[in-house]
Amino acid sequence: MRVYNFSAGPAVLPEEVLKKAASELCEHGGSGQSVMEMSHRSKEYEVIHNECIALLREVLAVPDNYKVLFIQGGAHMQFDMIPLNLMQKGKADFAVTGQWAGKAYSEAANYGTANLIASSKDKTFSYIPELDKSKFSPDADYFHICENNTIFGTKFRKLPETGDVPLVSDMSSCILSEPVDVSKYGLIYACAQKNMGPSGVTVVIIREDLIRDLADVKPHVPVMLRYKTYVDNNSLYNTPPTYTIYMCKLVLEWIKEKGGLAAMKAHNEKKAAVLYDVIDSSQMFSNPVVKTDRSMMNVTFVTGNEELDKKFIKEAKEAGFVNLGGHRSVGGMRASIYNAMPLEGVQALAQFIKKFESEN
Ligand SMILES: *Cc1c(COP(=O)(O)O)cnc(C)c1O
Repeated sequence: MRVYNFSAGPAVLPEEVLKKAASELCEHGGSGQSVMEMSHRSKEYEVIHNECIALLREVLAVPDNYKVLFIQGGAHMQFDMIPLNLMQKGKADFAVTGQWAGKAYSEAANYGTANLIASSKDKTFSYIPELDKSKFSPDADYFHICENNTIFGTKFRKLPETGDVPLVSDMSSCILSEPVDVSKYGLIYACAQKNMGPSGVTVVIIREDLIRDLADVKPHVPVMLRYKTYVDNNSLYNTPPTYTIYMCKLVLEWIKEKGGLAAMKAHNEKKAAVLYDVIDSSQMFSNPVVKTDRSMMNVTFVTGNEELDKKFIKEAKEAGFVNLGGHRSVGGMRASIYNAMPLEGVQALAQFIKKFESEN
């Protein structure tokens, strides 16, 4: 029996997608092979690869002057690739709203000047700080944000107005959850294992003017860490994670069939409301995040008593609600409710929360 899986990532995938993948596991199309067995240079694989890119462009409405790349190394490797490729003048601005944003900031500091524009560390990252425009560097190579803070359950509702400075966004845990205006960004990156597919690939969407030939200016940057390598080779310079890309394609087909990102947004808003409502009306549970900054994808909550939190997580697991423990750095509870989490799963969890409260 499948459980309701609230993992932050790798996370729940649509059951229809898993079934479709299972039906094609041993033989894809008329190829006589599993996708896992195909050469990445074969015609059969090329079709899957290009369809995945085309679907992502379509679903996310990616403008023509952006490239979509598939890179390995997770979102973590982007913390280095971004400064290595984008720092020309050697300066970038950062809003530090959690652990991932903090890592992007500290990695970038190894390559140039990383300016801390704002941080919400003072209150355990429970809010999105106001960004004072007078502190922005007009000559920065980019401005980095982590749009949805997976660990702390916060989300930027309003993007910083950075003018001509390209906005770079870590969208690992919110990509494909709602429509976005890609043209507002210079670069978007997201690892797949939250809302796009299994782990193994990171999608980078980069505006063409930010793709630079580093061969002359920064010859020390490894070929595998240059965006241009991926652009010039359609992300097939070396062997990409072919099966993960195939799974992402199935997820994108599923999103499209469900009505695209507008439908995902409606579905996700409904789920988040169910969960926040039950937490807000509880005497036992509370959500530590400033209301206007709440994430639609990662809902954090606590009882205020560690023992009781543990008891909740244990009993929830026994009742078929798994992976509800908060990130190891913060404790408490976290329900990640990505696209693939059905409304029924969230409603059942809300019922369980009420029941646990009445019994304890
Ligand atoms: C999960 C996550 C990461 C880390 O991703 P890896 O693929 O493990 O490197 C970075 N940023 C955000 C916002 C995340 O949710």
